[in-house]
Amino acid sequence: MNVVITGANRGIGLELVRCYRALGAHVIGACRSPQSADALQATGAEVVAVDMGVPSTIAGLAAVVSDRPIDVLINNAGIDARAVGAPDGHRSALDLDPDLFDAVMQVNVSGPLRLVQALAPNLRAAPPGKVVNISSQVGAFAIATKMGRDVSYAASKTALTMVSLKQAQAFTSDGVVVVAMHPGYVKTDMGGAGADLEPAESASAIAATIDSLTMERTGEFIRWDGSQHPW
Ligand code: NDP
Repeated sequence: MNVVITGANRGIGLELVRCYRALGAHVIGACRSPQSADALQATGAEVVAVDMGVPSTIAGLAAVVSDRPIDVLINNAGIDARAVGAPDGHRSALDLDPDLFDAVMQVNVSGPLRLVQALAPNLRAAPPGKVVNISSQVGAFAIATKMGRDVSYAASKTALTMVSLKQAQAFTSDGVVVVAMHPGYVKTDMGGAGADLEPAESASAIAATIDSLTMERTGEFIRWDGSQHPW
């Protein structure tokens, strides 16, 4: 089994790598700085450089994958506006710098769109290829009325969930499964220490859910445990 995971050097992505390595998979772990990704290198994954905001590096990742079938692609890398320089108190719809909004959309939405396009032949070659776009509950209209201070993060995850639905529709005749997934509220640099789930807990549930996915569920927005998430 060949698995591609972005944002593989820390957080949920690193735990997903560990899970799939424990299952015996060949993992292509993509991250921005392979030379300093010690924990990722230690898993035995094939480590490849990618910056999801830089299209040439996405093409570079696809070139390294070459013609290998990809069974699972997890678009896990994701940021909020703090990662591109927004001060914590300036992330609302009225005060976020629109250029920073665009930068978040590049990484969280355009990047996964590009990577799936670039790896479409590899996903079609697997029996069946599966794409999991790590979205967020904050991108769900049902939740966004109650929480989510960062307009770029919320809008990017709503867009990623919609892109997932459209990818699912576009892949229907190819038998490639696509879902958007909320990974849970997880104790990572992004989620913070007060979150609900340990990264390993989230990752092992995500891997089990991915294993159970069939074409019957393509286009759904789901949680880490496989339950349906409201739009
Ligand atoms: P972390 O902040 O711990 O890790 C983010 C990962 O994304 C890092 O590996 C980081 O690499 C990578 N990354 C950031 N920018 C880029 C880029 N431009 N190109 C490639 N990789 C990049 O976050 P989590 O592990 O918590 O989050 C993983 C995913 O889960 C994200 O998509 C997030 O939105 C989503 N999520 C997380 C929740 C949580 O509670 N933790 C809740 C809901 C959704 P680097 O070290 O180079 O910065």
